[in-house]
Amino acid sequence: MIDVLIIGSGGAGLTAALSAKKEGASVSVVGKAYPTNAQTSMAQGGINAALGNVEEDHVESHIADTIKSAHGLCDEAMVRQMCTDAPETIAWLERLGVPFSRLDNSKSGTQTIAQRKMGGASAKRACYAQDYTGLKILHTLYDTCLKEEIHFLDEHYLLNLVIQHGTVKGATFLDIRTGEVKQINAKSVVLATGGYGALYHGFTTNAYGSTGDGIAAVLRAGGAVSDMEFIQFHPTALKHSCILVSESARGEGGYLVNEKGERFVDELKPRDEVARAIFSQIKEGQRVFLDVRHLGEEKLMELLPQEVELCKLHEHVDPATELIPIKPVAHYTMGGIDVNAMLEVNGIKGCFTVGECSNAKVHGANRLGGNSLLEITAFGKVAGANAYKHAVDASSKPADDTQRQKDTKEIETLLSQKKPVNFYPYRERLGNLFYDKVGIVRDNEHLREALSEVTAMQETQKEMGITDKSPANNQNLIEFLEFKNALLLAPTIITSAIARDESRGAHYKIGFESENEALKKHSIHQWGEEETCK
Ligand SMILES: Cc1cc2nc3c(=O)[nH]c(=O)nc-3n(C[C@H](O)[C@H](O)[C@H](O)COP(=O)(O)OP(=O)(O)OC[C@H]3O[C@@H](n4cnc5c(N)ncnc54)[C@H](O)[C@@H]3O)c2cc1C
Repeated sequence: MIDVLIIGSGGAGLTAALSAKKEGASVSVVGKAYPTNAQTSMAQGGINAALGNVEEDHVESHIADTIKSAHGLCDEAMVRQMCTDAPETIAWLERLGVPFSRLDNSKSGTQTIAQRKMGGASAKRACYAQDYTGLKILHTLYDTCLKEEIHFLDEHYLLNLVIQHGTVKGATFLDIRTGEVKQINAKSVVLATGGYGALYHGFTTNAYGSTGDGIAAVLRAGGAVSDMEFIQFHPTALKHSCILVSESARGEGGYLVNEKGERFVDELKPRDEVARAIFSQIKEGQRVFLDVRHLGEEKLMELLPQEVELCKLHEHVDPATELIPIKPVAHYTMGGIDVNAMLEVNGIKGCFTVGECSNAKVHGANRLGGNSLLEITAFGKVAGANAYKHAVDASSKPADDTQRQKDTKEIETLLSQKKPVNFYPYRERLGNLFYDKVGIVRDNEHLREALSEVTAMQETQKEMGITDKSPANNQNLIEFLEFKNALLLAPTIITSAIARDESRGAHYKIGFESENEALKKHSIHQWGEEETCK
C-alpha cells in the first residue's frame, strides 16, 4: 500500500509529490491527462513574492493586498503563511531550475529576478518567465519529479474516493487506455484536481477538463465544499476564442479602450472591478479593446511573446499595430474543497487537498493575480508533508473493493445502455446559462431561473448517455463523466449565490450592491448535513 496518493498532476500535485517524497513517503501521482497538459501550463503573468527586486516591497504589503482583495472572506493566518513563505518558494523554484526572467540592472547580484505589477498589487511583485510562467514552473517540477523517480500513472480518471468510517483509504480510477476500473489503496490522499471554470463552457479561459471532478468526488464522499459562488472573471480574454491575454499586458502599460477610443477604467484595479467596467461598456453596445500598440514591437516580443502569437493566431490581429478585441470570461474558481489549517478536507480524514480545487481561504471573495501559482507551490509543499505525516500513523489494511465494484458496474452500464439524449448540447447550454445568469453581474430572478433550468437538466441527465461504446480510449465517456460532475456542482454555485444577498468581491448582485457584514461568512455544502454559513 502506498503512503501518499496524489490525484492531479498540475503544479499543485507535482509540488505535493516532491514534498511527500522528500519526507520519505512512497508516492504515486495519478492524472487524467499527462502532467505537461495540466492547466498550470497556461499561466502566463507571474507568481507573487515580495522580493522587492524592482521597487520597495514587503511581505506585510503582500499580506495586506491579499486580505484586501479577499473582501473579508480569507483566513488571515493562512494568507500570512502563504505570503511569508513566498520568497523561499521562489528561491526553491529557482534552485529546481525555473528560468525566471531577470533584471538587466541587478542591484546586488543575489536576487535578480524581474518582477511586474499585477492588478490589485501595491508593488511590482509578480516573478515571471516572459509570459510562459506556468509552463516553465510545471515543466521544471515535472523534470524534478522524474529525477526523483516519482511514480506516475497518466490517463487515469478519478471516479470516486474510497472511504471507510470517515477516513480515506484510496480512490477508484478509470484507466482511459483500457477501460478497466481500478482501485488504488493508499494511507493518505492529496487531491489536486484543479478548478471548475469549465462549467462556463465556451466562456472561460480554462481548459475543458477543469470540471471540478475532485470537488464533486469530495461531495459524494461526504466532505465539505465552500464558497462555490465566488468565480473570478478575467477582464481580457480574446473576444472570439476566450484565450487569455494576461494581466501582465496591462501591468506592462496596456490600456483598455472602447470603440470611441476612450479609456474608461483604471486598468490596474482588481479584476472584478475591471471586468464589471468592461461588461457595462459591452451592455451599452460598445466593443472593448486592449491597446498595447504604444509599448512597441520590441518590448512586446521581449515581455509578452506568447500573447502576441496567440493574438495573431486566434484573433487575427497584430498587437503591435492593431487593437485587440476582448471580453471578460470565467477564469478562476475561488471556491472548492473546504479544508482545515493542515489542508485536510473537512469531513474526510487523511484526505488533503491543494491548488485550485481547494478552498484554503487565501483568496476569499477575489483572488489576486499571481497568488494562485504561489498557492499551488507554497501550499503544495505543506499538503505533501502533512499527507505523509498522516500516512506514518495510518493503518496499512486496505479497504475492500466495494467502491470499485460499484464504479465498474456504473461504467459497464454507461457502455451498454442506449440513451436517447445527447449530452453535448446540454454542455453548451450549461455554459451559456452560467455566463448569462450566474455571471459577472447577478440578480436573484435570473439566479432562480438558472437553478430551475439546472434542476431540469439534472432530471434530463437520467436520459443522457454516450454513443461511443468502446471501453478503450473513449473520449465520449470521459467527457460525459466530466459533464456529470459539472452538473452536480452547478446547484452548489447557484444556491450559494442566491443566499448571498450582497455584493462581495467577484460576487456582484443587483439590488444588493454593497457588502453586508452579517454575510461575512463562508457558504458550506456538505451532503447529508444542513447547508450552513460559518
Ligand atoms: C489562462 C490562464 C492563465 C493563468 N495565469 C496565472 C498567472 O499568471 N498567475 C497565477 O498565479 N495564476 C494563473 N492562473 C491560475 C493558475 O494557473 C491555476 O489556478 C493553477 O495553475 C492551478 O493549478 P492546479 O495544480 O491546482 O490545477 P491544474 O493545473 O488545473 O491541474 C489539475 C490536474 O488534475 C488533473 N485532473 C483533473 N480531474 C481529474 C480526474 N477526474 N482524474 C484524474 N486527474 C484529474 C488534471 O489532469 C491536472 O493534471 C491562470 C489560469 C489560466 C487558465
